[in-house]
Amino acid sequence: MDLNLDLSGRRVLVAGGARPARRTIARCLAAGAAVFLVSDTFDVLPTGVDRVLLPTTRSGWSDLVGAVDLVIAVDPVEAIDSAVSRAARQRRVWLTREQPASVSATGRVTLVGGGPGDDGLLTVAAMSALRGADVVLYDLLGPRDRLEEWAPGATHVNVGKTPGHHAVPQREIERMLVEHALAGRTVVRLKGGDPFVFGRGGEEVIACRDAGVSVSVVPGVTSAISVPGTAGIPVTHRELSRLFTVVSGHAPLSDDELGHLAGLGGTVVVLMGVATLPHLAAGLMRRGLSPDTPVALIERGFSASQRTTIATLAGIVRVAQQTGARSPAVIVIGEVVRLAGSSDAEAARLLHDTVSLASSA
Ligand code: SAH
Repeated sequence: MDLNLDLSGRRVLVAGGARPARRTIARCLAAGAAVFLVSDTFDVLPTGVDRVLLPTTRSGWSDLVGAVDLVIAVDPVEAIDSAVSRAARQRRVWLTREQPASVSATGRVTLVGGGPGDDGLLTVAAMSALRGADVVLYDLLGPRDRLEEWAPGATHVNVGKTPGHHAVPQREIERMLVEHALAGRTVVRLKGGDPFVFGRGGEEVIACRDAGVSVSVVPGVTSAISVPGTAGIPVTHRELSRLFTVVSGHAPLSDDELGHLAGLGGTVVVLMGVATLPHLAAGLMRRGLSPDTPVALIERGFSASQRTTIATLAGIVRVAQQTGARSPAVIVIGEVVRLAGSSDAEAARLLHDTVSLASSA
């Protein structure tokens, strides 16, 4: 059963240690509940939580539980568990159980691939990592609109570029990950797409290992495949393409690289390639790729303003300039682009239209 309770203004009794119950407490506070803790340990309490005295009699437990709306047991000691459960049954107060958060002296880091920006493409593992996080470091390509809901009560730190602000430098992000973990926190590094596809995930894993911090990775849906897909372009297709190569357009490709790419014969997918597209298109043609090869440029995949521009290799630079194409975009080069749109006829028409547009100027 998956209940979604409105806790605002409700009284919640948490039974369990303050440290292991810290995520549960944070979520309840974030949801606007008044939180009381009953525990046999005396860890420091987060602000906003009241510790109640451990009752010594059954009627004491009954009074305590009868005064709240919900009891959440977070792995309390056996005596507290049975006392609180009995009182909840007797007073007909709801009781639920939650898993304790990690209490090791050193926390941990999870790199989470958030997919291309659509909430529905977050994995179950990603959601569960977010729910357990004390701190989330996120950037702007991944999904982030509902962070408050996915990681309620966690500290959310934007390390990406925002208008007027530079992104936090990579080394600084790595330092922050390690510092939070060494302070005992459960850290999620939420990234766009998959952490290991041009995501610098490898560097973050190494930084954690070097610092003795345990680190794991939740893979994500990469934009390299999903963004073409959402524009109706499969990166492979029987008898059309039996390989795809994913390249970064961040820096211009060397002449050798262009030559190999042009000779491969499958689909070429380019990320971060809007700025270097003129160099890429000219280079591929110079190294023998047909000027008629279809190219798709898909901007802001999975957003309300997703836009696909299709032209030939010879025409794409001019068409992209005319339409004012901007990053983030995925560029797809190859015969599979002909499959874009809902039907072959539509794709052919699209291609035909932009081709004639490109050659009429
Ligand atoms: N790790 C990411 C890629 C990071 S590089 C992944 O696996 O998807 C950043 C580039 O990814 C952007 O410049 C753009 O080329 C591409 N990208 C990511 N999300 C995108 C989206 N929603 N729409 C279009 N391009 C996207």
